[in-house]
Amino acid sequence: EPAIAAVRARLKEAGIHPASLPLAIDINEWLRRAKTGWDAFPNTGSGKIDAEVGPLTAALNSSNVSLVTGASVVRLETDPTGRKVTAAVFFKDGVERRISAGVFAVAAGAVQSAALLLRSANAAHPRGLANGSDQLGRNFMNHNTTAMLAIDPRSANTSVYQKTLAFNDFYNADPETGFPLGNVQLLGHITGNILKANAPLLPRWLAGLIARNCYGWFLTSEDLPNPESRVTVQNGRIVMHWVRSNMRAHELLIRRTRGVMRRAGFPIVLTRTFGRKTTSHQCGTARLGSDPETSVVSPDCRSHEIANLYVTDASVLPTSAAVNPALTIAALAIKAGAVISRS
Ligand SMILES: Cc1cc2nc3c(=O)[nH]c(=O)nc-3n(C[C@H](O)[C@H](O)[C@H](O)COP(=O)(O)OP(=O)(O)OC[C@H]3O[C@@H](n4cnc5c(N)ncnc54)[C@H](O)[C@@H]3O)c2cc1C
Repeated sequence: EPAIAAVRARLKEAGIHPASLPLAIDINEWLRRAKTGWDAFPNTGSGKIDAEVGPLTAALNSSNVSLVTGASVVRLETDPTGRKVTAAVFFKDGVERRISAGVFAVAAGAVQSAALLLRSANAAHPRGLANGSDQLGRNFMNHNTTAMLAIDPRSANTSVYQKTLAFNDFYNADPETGFPLGNVQLLGHITGNILKANAPLLPRWLAGLIARNCYGWFLTSEDLPNPESRVTVQNGRIVMHWVRSNMRAHELLIRRTRGVMRRAGFPIVLTRTFGRKTTSHQCGTARLGSDPETSVVSPDCRSHEIANLYVTDASVLPTSAAVNPALTIAALAIKAGAVISRS
């Protein structure tokens, strides 16, 4: 869109190397329903190509695939030797049911997958399934993130779908300190209502004015793996303990990006750093690795101890990097799927 092309040119003039974001979006389909710029749900059908719209719809065309919805899996059971998962126990409509299979892949997200495997502890696996290394639930990571509004009162941002540009000029090394700082990318285009909801004291007219004249950026820095950042299950309840890391790098990324925006002609730059309640990129609780002493699953996402158990979600990421994780998670799941189909 012209407004984004103009920002791209302004960033280049400021010495930055912007690039187009890799996106799983069908932009025409997205906008067909409504001209909604925020990366939410203008079209819950097929605009944002998520697991349901992409592989699941295709898989359901196979006669040997079925989907149970509204079900909550409470534990996995093994045979008495503990070497094989035999059943998943789940609740649907308040009734306990179980399903048997040759292979099980757990993909309930970084918190829930770890909790499920911990809850499935039995005589053969007293610390939880796939937890011989005692790493299950540990190394929980959640990116350090900040929203930045770069405002140019002289020109309006006319774009509809803004989230299309990124730059990694500080990703590998800060020019002064040499430390890796992170990624900067455009956010969805905010509206006055979104701004007002996040800053209730702002008069509505001012929120509208800011929204019209700003570009929203999302700054992401790596959160480092730490065994003490962990998910545990205590008396049936999930307990999260997140020890945040690497904030100095994130603060420097904010400083550097603010400088970039000023050089690119945005005199007003506002920021909000997200806290522990914004857990959009949670990962790391069943880290993959080739050493069974220090990891939960193999590089193929298979449990080191239970041959027919895979974990195929964000849990397996051994580091969080500093970019959005969904495509990496999907790639790892596809890789695990290929291994399962050959076995
Ligand atoms: C608001 C928001 C915006 C985001 N935007 C982006 C983005 O633009 N790009 C990007 O790359 N990433 C983005 N992310 C991150 C991305 O969505 C996650 O990293 C990704 O979905 C994690 O995948 P997952 O398979 O680990 O878990 P999930 O996608 O969370 O899937 C887990 C599934 O398991 C189900 N489940 C959980 N427990 C059970 C149980 N006991 N029984 C049965 N089912 C269960 C859940 O209902 C869920 O459907 C965003 C996240 C949020 C919250």
